[in-house]
Amino acid sequence: MLGGGSVGLYSARRLRKRLGRREAAIVVVDPRPYMTYAPFLPEVAAGSIQDRDVVAPHRRALKHVDTLQGKVTHINHGERTIEITPEEGDAYSITYDHLVVGLGSVARTLPIPGLAEQGIGFKNVEEAVALRNHILNRINLASSTWDPELRRRMLTFTFVGGGFAGIEALAETEDMARAAAKNLPGVSQDDIRFVMIEGTDRILPELTLEMANYALAEMKKRGIEFHLSTFLSSCVDGHVVTSTGVEFDSETIVWTAGVKANPVLGTSDLPLDKMGRLMVLPTLQVADEDGNVVEGAWGAGDCAAVPDLYNPGKFCPPNAQHAIREAKVLADNLFQSLKSGPVTEYKHKNLGTVASLGLHKGVAILFGSIKLKGFPAWVMHRAYHVSAMPTMSRKIRITTNWFGTYFLRREVVSLGSIHDPRAEFRAVSTPAKPKEAPAEAAKTTPMAPTETNNTEAASKS
Ligand SMILES: Cc1cc2nc3c(=O)[nH]c(=O)nc-3n(C[C@H](O)[C@H](O)[C@H](O)COP(=O)(O)OP(=O)(O)OC[C@H]3O[C@@H](n4cnc5c(N)ncnc54)[C@H](O)[C@@H]3O)c2cc1C
Repeated sequence: MLGGGSVGLYSARRLRKRLGRREAAIVVVDPRPYMTYAPFLPEVAAGSIQDRDVVAPHRRALKHVDTLQGKVTHINHGERTIEITPEEGDAYSITYDHLVVGLGSVARTLPIPGLAEQGIGFKNVEEAVALRNHILNRINLASSTWDPELRRRMLTFTFVGGGFAGIEALAETEDMARAAAKNLPGVSQDDIRFVMIEGTDRILPELTLEMANYALAEMKKRGIEFHLSTFLSSCVDGHVVTSTGVEFDSETIVWTAGVKANPVLGTSDLPLDKMGRLMVLPTLQVADEDGNVVEGAWGAGDCAAVPDLYNPGKFCPPNAQHAIREAKVLADNLFQSLKSGPVTEYKHKNLGTVASLGLHKGVAILFGSIKLKGFPAWVMHRAYHVSAMPTMSRKIRITTNWFGTYFLRREVVSLGSIHDPRAEFRAVSTPAKPKEAPAEAAKTTPMAPTETNNTEAASKS
């Protein structure tokens, strides 16, 4: 199993249940020792959920499955070999009989001047925690800063990309920032500026236009600034320039403008489509352009082009709802193929779409027709995602934390220095004096007596 995310974790668990330990060894390869439930990342950034609670540790969640911590850096399916590069130590190869590819996606970026230096992604838990600490830190610093330009720059938060991840991240962190500023006399609500830059003429393409416009209007009421049909042209040193000529300074630029299939697939001999996604049949078997099955190779999730049988000619969107369901069908089909049984096609009608727009605010469409707005949509968002979160212990922890927040108010403390924990120790440490070899020292300062010479001279006299 390449990748221990939604696809890797759920398919490994299901396959393990169906195959005895003597029948097969299952190995999950991932650079992280845990699976991240990404739909909860906006709530991690807002502090409504603890970071550790949105990850499921592989060792606990994957009983009787082996895990290898390292990055897959090359796939040679012809020779049934993958190369793994651990964080430390040399790369090594392992062989296999059957391959499940669940390598997910990476942020789709553009060569925009300043983006690599100034931007932060929003794909993993580390980024969500860093963003939270950064935003709270800016607010705290701004409250003791008199320079108006610097304050404006610190308190301007820019998000690029108005899909699900971008809108939820923006809405949740804006809500948190306003709550944090309430306790700070030095920062007023009017000082805080949240900006969304979106290339198309609408946000949340996963929702109907009516519901997306509702979300847009609600966020505008809160003072969030939207620049639709606009692209980010440059952000060198935090100076944002858009395609429509708008310019402003912002110390925070969050890039949420879409994803692309994991680029490591490009190093493999597996068939990929024009967008770099693994080509698979509805049975989740990897297949070439002509539909011929590549024996022993399976794929699903964000890294695969899975045909959407409810929308012929289209592919399933890259989301957790599909990835988790695909994983189960994939595991069943892999089991069937080992037993020479029949395989089934993945066919899943979208259950609905739920989005959180901050604490107690949301928007949702269920079963294609039930529309929810505000508090009921937010409750539905939480209920759906907590049910999808793997492991019972995580479900309990998340729910308990929510109740805690409800009664004890939102936590707005920033542990900004966690990102450089050695800074304080470095500042108080005395650097060791460089050691000079005696011969070398004598050569460079012939007239200066060395410590040894001095002692010798003293004892002689
Ligand atoms: C902020 C955010 C919010 C989202 N909100 C929603 C939502 O509300 N609803 C929804 O349905 N979906 C949502 N999604 C999308 C959803 O999380 C993904 O579609 C889903 O996780 C895809 O599952 P996957 O198994 O394909 O990939 P992932 O779950 O991302 O798993 C990929 C795994 O591969 C590992 N990996 C990466 N590179 C390598 C390598 N070289 N070698 C080995 N392992 C590797 C990664 O560490 C990871 O564990 C959201 C995503 C984000 C980022």
